[in-house]
Amino acid sequence: MDDCIFCKIIAKKIPAKIVYEDEKILAFDDLRPQAPTHTLIIPKEHYAALPDVPADKTGLIAHIFSVVPRIAEAKGIDRTGYRIVLNTGKDSGQDVFHIHFHLLGGRPMAWPPG
Ligand code: AMP
Ligand code: ZN
Repeated sequence: MDDCIFCKIIAKKIPAKIVYEDEKILAFDDLRPQAPTHTLIIPKEHYAALPDVPADKTGLIAHIFSVVPRIAEAKGIDRTGYRIVLNTGKDSGQDVFHIHFHLLGGRPMAWPPG
């Protein structure tokens, strides 16, 4: 996707602070962090939002979740805990239409979320 900022990060056309990468996914720090740790985890394949992920690709989502504890450990928040957020669609406030999970930690999280 030529006009997708996250595809450009995957292609290394624009810089990002990458914290994890394998053949399927990439994790990098959010440009405008909302917590001491705020890392985005994305599949390398472009899907605009959750409903766009085909049923036979849901293994990709499972893979992301399998890697989260390792990223949390690398960030030093594995013992204190963290929150994973997926914004999808208009009401969620999704801004970037390349599916991404927010990994937030390093401070207590409020509930209910905003
Ligand atoms: P969302 O509202 O769930 O779509 O979140 C999009 C997130 O992407 C926001 O937290 C932005 O701060 C973040 N973001 C946008 N552009 C970049 C970028 N170039 N590098 C890192 N994070 C970004
Ligand atoms: Zn993309």
